[in-house]
Amino acid sequence: MALVRCEFHKPTGRNYEYVKVVEPVDPPNEAVICGIKGCLKRGSVWLCIEEAAAYNKGERFFLSKPSRKAGREAETGAKIRVMQ
Ligand SMILES: [Zn+2]
Repeated sequence: MALVRCEFHKPTGRNYEYVKVVEPVDPPNEAVICGIKGCLKRGSVWLCIEEAAAYNKGERFFLSKPSRKAGREAETGAKIRVMQ
């Protein structure tokens, strides 16, 4: 599942396998917010290997991953439409 993170909270570490970053439609899109607790900055959409492959085949909707680091702020995911 995709992650939404701002420029200051990019996913790092061996637990992440995000290989592609795409933007929500109509950038700069202030409606899609970083999943880190307390952060209200505009987010980009990080795609894992399988999602990046789907993107390359034309998929433009992705589910955001509920964030352990966000508490109740991001307890459920959302569908996000991304740019071509
Ligand atoms: Zn952030």
